[in-house]
Amino acid sequence: MPTLSKSRFISGSQCHLRLWNDFHARDLAADPSASLQAIFDTGHEVGELACKRYPDGHFVAQNHLQITEALVETRQVLEQGTAPALFEAAFEHQGLLTRADIIERLASGGWRLIEVKSTMSLKDVFVLDVAFQLSVLRGAGLDVRDAAVMTLERSYVYDGIELDLKSLFKLHFVLEQCENLLDTVRGNAREMQDLVSAKEPPNVQIGDHCFTPYDCPYYEHCSREDVFPDHGIDELPSLRSARRAQLNEAGIEEIRDIPDDFPLTNLQRIVHQTVLDQQSVVHGDISAMLAEINSPVRYLDFETFAPPIPRFVGTSPYDAIPFLFSVHTELERDAVTHADYLHEHDDDPRPHIVAQLIEAVGDEGSICTYSNYERTVLNSLAKAVPERAEEIASISSRLFDLHRVVKSTVYHSEFRGSFSIKSVLPVLVPGMGYDDLEISDGQTASVHYVQALNSSDSRDRKQIFENLRAYCERDTLAMVRLHDALQRL
Ligand code: SF4
Repeated sequence: MPTLSKSRFISGSQCHLRLWNDFHARDLAADPSASLQAIFDTGHEVGELACKRYPDGHFVAQNHLQITEALVETRQVLEQGTAPALFEAAFEHQGLLTRADIIERLASGGWRLIEVKSTMSLKDVFVLDVAFQLSVLRGAGLDVRDAAVMTLERSYVYDGIELDLKSLFKLHFVLEQCENLLDTVRGNAREMQDLVSAKEPPNVQIGDHCFTPYDCPYYEHCSREDVFPDHGIDELPSLRSARRAQLNEAGIEEIRDIPDDFPLTNLQRIVHQTVLDQQSVVHGDISAMLAEINSPVRYLDFETFAPPIPRFVGTSPYDAIPFLFSVHTELERDAVTHADYLHEHDDDPRPHIVAQLIEAVGDEGSICTYSNYERTVLNSLAKAVPERAEEIASISSRLFDLHRVVKSTVYHSEFRGSFSIKSVLPVLVPGMGYDDLEISDGQTASVHYVQALNSSDSRDRKQIFENLRAYCERDTLAMVRLHDALQRL
């Protein structure tokens, strides 16, 4: 009987084909992206810190290839009967295998099983994960009397001196839910063990399950022969699920096939018409909106990173911390200057960002952004650097959102339902995009910034910092050009 690990069981719970591929066609999986790898790294970092809540716990250090040794060591430590907790303890029962993040010895007898997650809330898939482990641990003879998922606590605020691990982590007790799932887990696990013994893959079509609860690494392979709609109904902004269901029932996948009398919102109607006409539509008063912009015009963009474990005083898990900004200033038409600031050290960037930003944006004229995010960042900076809150409030009062203008005045079928600057720019400013850059989105920027801070290779750091600056500069230059294009429209 094939051995089924916890991660394979979760794979199989998402999709039988995914599980079969994991055993027989692993090379069809896409490599994890830098962002996904960063999520794995975050999980390890949070997991290690969670273990520190249990001083004198025993770490079963063998890696995933040393399962026999891990099983032996776990058994020996349990037999000694003294360790208050074990980390990465290994258990096996009837071909089912798991490593438990933490098992904690209870004062009243028996053990508590704890699964550590780097998120801030409990999800159904975590309960399933613990239920699988509970089934294996009890099957292997461990007296498990409690089970919990440990997540980060959103309301925790770091005092800047020492992390309070009791308050930083939160336990969600799930024993009863897991016990209710035990029969299902055992039945499903047996079915999966049969399934992976089959020579042929199960017949499963792609669908919503390919992205729930996790993005499947086989999607590119599974969808390689599928023909996707040219302008699918997913391009309709804010399409409610009831309307989507109506269209699905009628077999309508393409926007162009939606009948004229189908109920759509105003913006959806515009998108529908634009797809039929294949040209851009100006449907609002662009000049009236742009008339609110005052000279000299500046364009501002922040890049942020969100450490799961708070690093700076007054912050909570996953608070966004700005580390880079770019500002373009348009003193007169075609005369544009640029300034930026990137914090290259691992201390708190916020006071430095504030000081440099106040210099860069001066004290008059509008400051264009492309979303409301910069306002949110400024609000958080005002709290972090209260002695400069007044100046920051003054900057906020000058913000002007170009995204709002685009969304309420213009649409082109090539926006493909998105008003993000990445979608809008190549259409409204032909020839301008992000494809020539090493870093071309905010999430990658944040991952690379953390990599640079952790790197001891100065050339590597320098290169990453240059790439980050180039990306942020492109964002604000894009706004300069976009503003110009909107004026001409
Ligand atoms: S892409 Fe979808 S259908 Fe293919 S293996 Fe993954 S979940 Fe299954």
